[in-house]
Amino acid sequence: MGKVIAIANQKGGVGKTTTAVNLAASMAATKRKVLLIDLDPQGNATMGSGVDKYAVHATAYELLVEEKPLAEVVVKETAGGYHLVASNSDVTAAEVRLLDVFARELRLRTALKDARNHYDFIFIDCPPSLNMLTVNAMAAADSVLVPMQCEYYALEGLTALMDTINKLAAVVNADLKIEGILRTMYDPRNRLANDVSEQLKQHFGDKVYRAVIPRNIRLAEAPSFGTPVMYYDKSSTGAKAYLALAGEILRRADKKVVKAAS
Ligand code: ADP
Ligand code: MG
Repeated sequence: MGKVIAIANQKGGVGKTTTAVNLAASMAATKRKVLLIDLDPQGNATMGSGVDKYAVHATAYELLVEEKPLAEVVVKETAGGYHLVASNSDVTAAEVRLLDVFARELRLRTALKDARNHYDFIFIDCPPSLNMLTVNAMAAADSVLVPMQCEYYALEGLTALMDTINKLAAVVNADLKIEGILRTMYDPRNRLANDVSEQLKQHFGDKVYRAVIPRNIRLAEAPSFGTPVMYYDKSSTGAKAYLALAGEILRRADKKVVKAAS
């Protein structure tokens, strides 16, 4: 059974999309079947996957509003070896259109009902706000992966986010878990970053991934070439960091299976 992971943080620019694209590619490189769902109308994850958001045959709009089957909207050719549900400005309309439909929070969950049988991992790149699209992601997901920058006030923001996730879970998805907290754009020479990182580990313990994503120019450059970083510069620290993250997520999942079986 596949696992659905929403990549969310209401703050913009924390590395959600970079994580979505590069984690999806890293997982696909380990021979897992991966689907990436771009729910941000900016379509950055779509472009970063080497798919032209202006030329796609369908987007998350058709999936959510028109209730077209996943197989009809999915893009199978991406630069990262995964399948993609694309996004562009049409998806802004989805947010509005969803407001007056029945069970509007559950559209994505319903759309993905059979998808777990076809994919090992389904990642959802959320927009930087808590709108109906993000709520749909939270309702459809098994867990939330939270990318964050270790800067001043980061902990406060994170506590607020956890609070929101818990409240949302109580309403739309009682089984929703925190998959993990990912430190992004990390600079180990920055003392504040180290302090925040320490506090983070004290507060959230082993929810904080050991894998850390460094600030790496290759990660910022790769999207303009329409490719995940591992196919742009595979020896970059960014490429290695996302592969390490994929490995850690796989090991954690294995451990849980062993625990459940014993
Ligand atoms: P979000 O989706 O949370 O808004 P993005 O993933 O789009 O954030 O990242 C914001 C900006 O920072 C982008 O220009 C991206 O290329 C850059 N970026 C993200 N992660 C890194 C990193 N680890 N090192 C350098 N630049 C990064
Ligand atoms: Mg983004």
